[in-house]
Parts: sequence; C-alpha cells; structure tokens
Amino acid sequence: MTGAASRVFNFSAGPAVMPDEVLQTAAAEMLDWHGSGMSVMEMSHRGREFTSIIEAARADLRELLAVPPEYKILFLQGGGLGENAIVPMNLAARRLPAGANLQSSPVDATIDFIQTGSWSVKSSNEARRYARVHVAASNGQGKLSAIPARETWQLSADPAYVHVCTNETIDGIEFGSAPDVAAATGGAPLVADMSSHILSRQIDVSQYGVIFAGAQKNIGPAGLTLVIVREDLLGHALPICPSAFNWKTVADNESMFNTPPTYAIYIAGLVFQWLKRRGGVAAMEQRNIAKAALLYDFLDGSDFYENRVAPAARSRMNIPFFLADEHLNEDFLAGAKEHRLLQLKGHKSVGGMRASLYNAMPLQGVQALVGYLQEFERKHG
Ligand code: PMP
Repeated sequence: MTGAASRVFNFSAGPAVMPDEVLQTAAAEMLDWHGSGMSVMEMSHRGREFTSIIEAARADLRELLAVPPEYKILFLQGGGLGENAIVPMNLAARRLPAGANLQSSPVDATIDFIQTGSWSVKSSNEARRYARVHVAASNGQGKLSAIPARETWQLSADPAYVHVCTNETIDGIEFGSAPDVAAATGGAPLVADMSSHILSRQIDVSQYGVIFAGAQKNIGPAGLTLVIVREDLLGHALPICPSAFNWKTVADNESMFNTPPTYAIYIAGLVFQWLKRRGGVAAMEQRNIAKAALLYDFLDGSDFYENRVAPAARSRMNIPFFLADEHLNEDFLAGAKEHRLLQLKGHKSVGGMRASLYNAMPLQGVQALVGYLQEFERKHG
C-alpha cells in the first residue's frame, strides 16, 4: 500500500506521528521548493530562500505561543539530553560574583531540581557535572505517581535556576501550569523541559526563564531543538561551553552561528502553519483534552486496565497503562498491530503500555484504540 491508505495509528512517544498534510506538502516540495529548482535540504542556510523559511518558522512559533518580545527563539541541535548539559553551562554562573572561579567543574553554584519522573532525574544527574544540584522536591516515582505539593518544596534561597520537566514522557505526569518559584528563590528563573508537550496546551511564556524542547514529538523531525530564552539570561555561559551551544552567540547570529538543522526547521515551519490553520494552540488544547478524556475515562471505567498516575497529574500527551494480567501483554500488542495500532509498548523502565496522543494523533486514532481495548477486554476479561 502507498499513500494515506497505508498509514497506521502511531502511538510512539517519539519520534512520533506527523500530520499527513505536512508530509504531503514536504513530498510535493521535495525536488523543487517554490520554483527554486532545489530541495530545501540543498539550500544554503544563508540564502534568500532558506532565510525566508526560518524567519517564517520563528514568527509563526512566536505567534502560536504568544512569546513576548524580550524572549529569543533559538533553533539548535543536541536534543533534550543535549540541553541537560547546555542549560547548566549557560546558566549555572548566573549569580556568581565577579572574579568567581568559573574554571572549576562543577562551579560553586546551586541548581534546584523538581524531580517528578525519569526525565527530570536524568536532567539533575547531568547537571551535577557543572554545578551543585539540590533536589528541592521529588515524588520518589512511587506506585501512584503525583507531583509533590508546592508547599512541600524545599527551594534554595538563591539558586542559579529551578528546573522542572513539565511533561514526564515516560511516567505520564504533567504540570497543568507553571509552578510559582520566583518569590521563594529571590527571582530565580524557572527552566522547563517541555519536550513532550510543547504546543499541546496554552502556556504563559513569561512565567519561565527558559523553555526547551526536542522537536521529535510535537514539532517535527529529531535533530532540531528549540530554546526560548529570556534575554537577560544570555551572556552567562561558562568558559567550557561550546560556542555553538552558547545561547548568546546563537541568539546574536539568529541561529546561524553554525549551520542549523535546515530541513528539520523547514518541517517544523510546516507544522506551525498546520497548527495555525487548525486554530492554533487553544483549539489544539481542546482537541487534546477530548482525546485524553476519552482514553482515561475508558481506563478508569475498566477493571481490566489501569493507569496509576494521580488524576491531578495525568498527562494529556503520554498515557501509560497496565493490563491487570501482564501475561497478556504480548497478545495485546500483537492484536493491536493487526488493528494497525502501533508503538503501544510501555517504556522499559515502567513496563505495561503507553499511548502517546500528540497533536498530530487524530481523535479517530484514540477512538480506534478504545475500540480495540474494549474488544481485547471482552475476549480476555
Ligand atoms: N526530555 C523529555 C521530556 C523527553 O521526553 C526526551 C525524549 N524522550 C528527552 C528529554 C530526551 O530527548 P533527546 O532524546 O532528544 O535527547
């Protein structure tokens, strides 16, 4: 089969499902972008054509997330894990006095971490190489996962920044809004890893100092990494920070200090246009609420399946669930594949199943999944 008829419902956590329309446009423009006689991947990143592509992508993203003018939008490489090092290299020294030793590694500065799952734990472990890490709160990743109540957080008085992962892709835990940390920390900026839910819900960018996201879930191809950073947080990079990852250098060069991931930026730009045509982030959020509710309501109403995340912390994007009888896992996945429902196996650290419902997953995909869940339960329940 070729074309749209051959498409499956892909519940992968990332790289993940893309909108058909975007892939069709990219296919149509593959050999000749807008009469240029070239594919986008063949273009000079400094040429007129690509400059128009990156400028449109930046402007569309600014509009979609209502990014205030005092924030820079950077297109980088390195992924989410790259940012786990790049963020401390750019921010750890933010509060150090003039003349402080910046050559030591780690430097004499504290970063606060809120641990709510696998990715924030990973981020804190990487940051230890660059600065002192203080775990201000942790959910211990218990059986019923939740976000520790804000009142219980033990924040430092003056940390370089506070790190949160606002959507824990593996554990299925999501923050509904930005936690207020500024008052308790002398105005420390909040840094958010939004890799797996950026553009899925409305956010108030001004609540954050830095937002970063790998592209391969809600934005486009792996390889592109997005950083949205408030201007006053530029210019604090440690001497060991590679120039290509020094946010100030990248910002001063409009993300052209080195060759940016041009084709991935082009695809991201097509996704931004698709989002705008579909009513922007507010409309997408409504669809995401409906999709997630459909699946959670079904899981909660069944004794055969179980989601173990506290209701207030449940992610709309990544929904882990378990079969009551885990011996049926292989049968479940094989049957799902026959129904063209793919990539439902849970992360190996959690087990069970996981359905990722990113922006590009249509409601019909979730309906098909719930239909299959019912059918499997009838057969084996
Ligand atoms: N943070 C989060 C929240 C993620 O979901 C992922 C990838 N699944 C990463 C970071 C790591 O991203 P990458 O593999 O692009 O480095």
